[in-house]
Amino acid sequence: MASRAMPSSSDRTGGAPRVVLLPSAGMGHLVPFGRLAVALSSGHACDVSVVTVLPTVSSAESKHLQGLFDAFPAVRRLDLHLAPFDASEFSDADPFYVRYEAVRRSAPLLGPLLADADASALVADIALASVVIPVAKELLIPCYIFFTASATMFSLLAYFPTYLHSNAGHSIGDVDVPGVYRIPMSSIPQALHDPNNLFTQQFVANGRSLAEADGLLVNTFDAFEPEAVTALRHGTVAPGFPPVFALGPLSPVGFPAGEAARESGNYTTWLDAQPARSVVYVSFGSRKALLRDQLSELAAGLEASGCRFLWVVKGTVVDRDDDRELRELLGEVFLQRVNGRALVTKAWVEQEEVLKHPAVGLFISHCGWNSVTEATVSGVPVLAWPRFADQRVSAGVVARRGLGVWVERWSWEGEERVVTGDEIAEKVKSVLADETLRKNSTMVREAAAAAVATGGTSYRSLAKFVRRCST
Ligand code: UDP
Ligand code: UDP
Repeated sequence: MASRAMPSSSDRTGGAPRVVLLPSAGMGHLVPFGRLAVALSSGHACDVSVVTVLPTVSSAESKHLQGLFDAFPAVRRLDLHLAPFDASEFSDADPFYVRYEAVRRSAPLLGPLLADADASALVADIALASVVIPVAKELLIPCYIFFTASATMFSLLAYFPTYLHSNAGHSIGDVDVPGVYRIPMSSIPQALHDPNNLFTQQFVANGRSLAEADGLLVNTFDAFEPEAVTALRHGTVAPGFPPVFALGPLSPVGFPAGEAARESGNYTTWLDAQPARSVVYVSFGSRKALLRDQLSELAAGLEASGCRFLWVVKGTVVDRDDDRELRELLGEVFLQRVNGRALVTKAWVEQEEVLKHPAVGLFISHCGWNSVTEATVSGVPVLAWPRFADQRVSAGVVARRGLGVWVERWSWEGEERVVTGDEIAEKVKSVLADETLRKNSTMVREAAAAAVATGGTSYRSLAKFVRRCST
């Protein structure tokens, strides 16, 4: 563990610890970092800076960061210009993983930034862990790693290097994470089945580096993932683990939604006009588009369900390139037929607001972890349809805790099967009418609220983390 040889910077700033946050790429990583920044700055009087890696990847990312700095002027912005990076050797890789790599290779540039900021602690994204911890150590700055997905996925990350060692020469199978539970082979992120995948290499290096961190932050709460949180804390998953702070669900941060609302035909006004719990909100997150055939079947299924729906459609991978029109994706005739009882948009919506709206009764979600945590805050039941990466692991947590249901046979990216409109329609109708599920999801909401309320498990974890940054 890094220890400070000199007086801590908090001594020089009247006791407020100077915390520098370093997110990586993707809204799924940026959003929770923004929430952590606000929790530390507004809730715990820390002096917070957020490193903005330039150029940003997508318009959604740059708008989000700007919204954060505009709404919370106390949060400082520190610009990090990426070092020149030749992406051509990774032409086949996922653009987000390539971006992680570009930021990882710029890690040495972080030293002067941290020294100038007189940081008392660095909180870096998991995707950067193995390259950033040595930089912070060199400067004697304590380094914390923020894992923006589930504690269960975190346990898989921590155990994976050991698993690979014992499984040498074999392909990846079910992974029985010590103290947690068996994660079936079918739930292991696609990339991890290939040892040469860029993501796998980063994942293994980051997993190995965790013991060197001064502490680990996770956006979950004890009651939601008791197995993983306990096993990580007790060193059951991997020995020599630093302290684990489960401090979620981090509160959504309301930026003014004006522009987003205008772009999407004002979904708030539309939602206001719908009966309570009648609307199915459909979103597969910011990262991945459904294939054309599946998109058509989903459209048919939503229509055949007879339900009202708000559907955020994504056409391509990175928002900036997302210029295909809805009409081209779904057909003019479909859009006319559902007009009135549905709102279909390609624009960014403020999901946290949507989920809190009383008209919303069901969330069809890919189970990106932020979406899951937002569903715990709102108590909206989830129909899980994971597609990629850690989303099946998250869907497993959702189903285990009764926040939602998961049809495990529904397609996963890389599988050919298309789920038919009829099957989707039947499932939507039955889940929307499921009173037991509604009660369970309300209980999850109450548990989430209790965790972050004064004296709750997450409240105490966050306070403990701040105390450590102050000493
Ligand atoms: N999000 C949003 N509006 C959109 C799409 C996404 O506000 O139109 C937010 C969502 O609320 C969540 C984040 O973007 O906070 C997406 O993160 P998640 O982990 O759910 O999925 P990812 O996009 O990383 O797959
Ligand atoms: N992740 C990780 N190690 C890394 C990079 C990412 O554990 O080196 C985590 C990441 O936070 C996410 C999961 O692994 O929980 C899958 O990452 P990916 O970027 O594919 O998904 P997303 O962030 O879009 O949910």
